[in-house]
Amino acid sequence: MSARAFTLALLLAAWTVPGTTRAQAGGSASPPAAAEAAYPPAPSIPAIGVPNTRYLDVPASALGPAVDPAKGYRLQDLGRGLYMVTDNVYQSMFLVYDRGVVVIDAPPSYASRIPQAIAEVTSRPITHVVYSHSHTDHIGGTRALGGHPVIIAQQETLRLLERAADSSRPLPTVTFADRYTLRVGTQVLELSYHGDAHEPGNIFIYAPAQQVLMAVDLVFPGWMMWRRFAVAHDIPGVFAQVERIRKMPWRTFVGGHVARTGTHADVDVQAEFMGDVRRAAAAALAATKPGEGLDPRDAANPWALFDDYIDRVAAKCVNALVPAWSTRLAAFDVYVWDQCYAMEQSLRID
Ligand SMILES: [Zn+2]
Repeated sequence: MSARAFTLALLLAAWTVPGTTRAQAGGSASPPAAAEAAYPPAPSIPAIGVPNTRYLDVPASALGPAVDPAKGYRLQDLGRGLYMVTDNVYQSMFLVYDRGVVVIDAPPSYASRIPQAIAEVTSRPITHVVYSHSHTDHIGGTRALGGHPVIIAQQETLRLLERAADSSRPLPTVTFADRYTLRVGTQVLELSYHGDAHEPGNIFIYAPAQQVLMAVDLVFPGWMMWRRFAVAHDIPGVFAQVERIRKMPWRTFVGGHVARTGTHADVDVQAEFMGDVRRAAAAALAATKPGEGLDPRDAANPWALFDDYIDRVAAKCVNALVPAWSTRLAAFDVYVWDQCYAMEQSLRID
């Protein structure tokens, strides 16, 4: 918890304690009668920590073409020498030019098969690797690509990888601050950094000839975002970058996850969902009183007060989202509670 959040917690506790203390002095150990109404009805979606025995069906629109189990990956031609490789959970790309191949990300789940995927279209060697960001689930398979390629990343990625000291993620050999244009033969990749959002150093990778934008862990075409806005380092930054992606003039989007590539309609739907989560969490915060309904015996425990308050806010937020969204995004039920908890926290402290 940040110093600011801690101060907030104490202020809030100090403000609430007198009323509840009086209730205790009156000899009642049970919550005030009005407390019942303060609790929203339990959402139909199991809360975090409650087993979900059967998840909602995944809409067909969220799925992509099947992966051949014998190969363990699927290759998708994005045009003019650019390809997406995926195991339908992770996504990476490679770009073929006149003398070699540039690989963008190497997820460990299938990185050992990336050379085979490349061999389907060319016998040229891997000369460059671009890291989208430092997270091991996207680049931890780099060693499986072999050789000693030039590795390009944003300078924050270098800093984080030096700290990680992880031999499966070799350090970048070329770094940049804001922009880097990689020209190889007649092929071009425009790398750009737009500040912190998912993680410091996470970049946009744009292939202008192919009109393909790759930006990882920000947009999940057809799917609910991974928990807590994809474990966002900075939630307001994620909102800003999704909006930026929405307005950019690409034709195909590669998000680093799920089965298929994305369209502008996919980004619009996710942006709409994010806006709805923000509105639902803000409304729930405004409609919920801290400490209301808390057992007076817990009045001196500010963490309990917050736990009770935040749970009630999150439940109201989830209830507000279920009618419109439970069938629009695959796996809505898996992470809706996480999104509401993350959003209410961001609205209170960011
Ligand atoms: Zn990541």
